[in-house]
Amino acid sequence: MRVAIISVFTDYHRRGEHHRGVLQPQIGPLIAALLPDEAEVEIVNDTWTDPDWSKHYDLVFLSAMHSDFDRARQISHYYRRRGALTVLGGIMATTHTRLCQPYFDAVVTGDPEDTVPRIYADARRRSLQPVYRSAGYHGERVPTPRVRPVARQQLFPVALEVTRGCPYTCDFCALTAFGTRHELRPVSRVVRDIRSIRSALQGVVGGLRNRMVMFYDNNLAGNLRYFRELCEALKPLDIVWGACLTFNVITNRELLKLMHDAGCRAVFVGLETFNPDALADMHKPQNKLSQVRRAIDQAREAGILVTAGLILNPAIDDVDYIRSLPDHLERSGLHVPSFVCFETPFPGTPFFDRMSARPGAFLPNALLRDFNAYTLVLRPVRSTPEAFIQAFQETQARIYSPRRRLAKLRDDLPRLMRAGSWVAAGLDVGDMWLARFDPAPGRTFAAGSDLAPPETVPFTDDDFGSDVERQRICEPMRVTNESGEVLAAWQSHVATPMNFTNAREVAA
Ligand code: SF4
Repeated sequence: MRVAIISVFTDYHRRGEHHRGVLQPQIGPLIAALLPDEAEVEIVNDTWTDPDWSKHYDLVFLSAMHSDFDRARQISHYYRRRGALTVLGGIMATTHTRLCQPYFDAVVTGDPEDTVPRIYADARRRSLQPVYRSAGYHGERVPTPRVRPVARQQLFPVALEVTRGCPYTCDFCALTAFGTRHELRPVSRVVRDIRSIRSALQGVVGGLRNRMVMFYDNNLAGNLRYFRELCEALKPLDIVWGACLTFNVITNRELLKLMHDAGCRAVFVGLETFNPDALADMHKPQNKLSQVRRAIDQAREAGILVTAGLILNPAIDDVDYIRSLPDHLERSGLHVPSFVCFETPFPGTPFFDRMSARPGAFLPNALLRDFNAYTLVLRPVRSTPEAFIQAFQETQARIYSPRRRLAKLRDDLPRLMRAGSWVAAGLDVGDMWLARFDPAPGRTFAAGSDLAPPETVPFTDDDFGSDVERQRICEPMRVTNESGEVLAAWQSHVATPMNFTNAREVAA
C-alpha cells in the first residue's frame, strides 16, 4: 500500500512560510517505524514542504495542532476524493473525537504503538473502524524511529523521543488536555536507538549533524532519578545534545555538571513569565522567579545554552508589565527569548474549561485557527484588546532589536567558550542571527479579525458534490459566537481520555 504520513502545518506568523527551524515534527518517523516493510511510506512534514498534490495514496495518516485543524480536514478531503482512506491522530482526535469524525475515515485516540499496526491491517482490507483507541503506553513497543527518509529536512536528524508526557500540570499546556502522565522507557533502549539512528544515517549526514542528538520530549527531566540514569548512559556515546526540560533542573548545579559531562549543550525551558501572579494562575510552581538569574548564569558557566519562551497572560498581565519585559529580560541574563506569545486556552485543556466558565472571557468570533498563540483569543482583564496588542507589538520590536541580540551574545559567549562549549556558542549565534519580530502586513493579532492563513489546498470544482459540501470543508471552524460565548461543540470533551501507567511519578 502507498502510505503518506502528513504532519499538517499552517504558519502562525501568517506569512505562509514553511518552518525550517530545529523543531520539526517527529510523528512521521515514529509511525513509519510502526508500519510493515511492505508499505511504501512517504513522510510529509508540511512544516518543511507542501504535500505533493499529484500523488495518489491508499492510506493517509494526518496529525495536526488545533490551529492546523482546518487545513487537516481539507487535506483529508482532497486525498479522500482521490481514493485514499484518511486517519487523524493527535490532540484533537483524542479530546474531541466526535467533532473530528466527519472529516476522516478513522480517528485515533491516544498512542500510536498499538493502534497504527491495526489501522494498517484494516486499511489493507478497506475496512477501517471509525475510532481506534489505544490501550495505553508500553515503552517496549516504541520502535527506533525511521529518520532516514527525512534526514535532509532536519537540521539535526538524530532525533527521538525518550519519555512521553510530563508530570506537571501547567493548565495552559496542550498536554494537560490528556490528563497527567509521564511515561518512561528503559534507558538501554534509548541508547540502542541513538546508536541505530546514527548508524542508519552514516553516509547521509556526517560531522556535527550526526553527533548532535535532539531529544523531542516535552520534558526530558520529568523524573530526575531516570534523567540522572539517562545522563550516565549517554556519557560514553560521545554525542552532544539538546532537550526541553523544566526550570527547576537548571537551578541544580550538580545536575548541570552531569548534563554537560553527558553532552548537553542547549536546553529550552518554559520560563513563561516574570509576573508571580501570572505564574500562579498558570499552575506552574516549578518555576522560581527569585532563582532565574542564578539558574541562567550557572547553566552558561556549565557550558549549557538556555533558551526560553515567554507567555502573556491576558487574565493577569497589564500593559505596564508587558512594557517592562525588556528590563526583566536584561536583569535575568536571558536578554532575548525564543518567543513572546499569548497564553491560549486550547480546547480540551483545564485552562479552556476555566475560561469557558467565565462570562466575557473570550473575544467574539474566535476561529479555531486563531488558537495559535500569536492571535489573542482572550479578552484582557486589565486593558482593552487594542492596548494589549499594541504593547505586545512595541515590546517585541524592542526585545528583538539588534542591540539586545548583541547584548545577549556578549553575555553568553565568553562563558560558554570558557566552558569549552563551542557547539552551544554556535547555536546561540545562529539563534540570534535569525531572531526577529517582523509581522506580516495586515495582522491584527486579534481573534475574529486576524489574517487568514495563506496556505491553500488546490481543490477544483470537481472536488465538491455541492456548495454545502464545499462550505462544510472549507469554512473555518468557529469556537466563539458574535458575543464571545463558546459554542456548544467545544464545551464537552473527554475528561481524561487515556490510560496512564505512571502519572505523577516525580522523583526527587
Ligand atoms: S512543564 Fe512544560 S510540558 Fe509539562 S505541563 Fe508544564 S508546560 Fe506542559
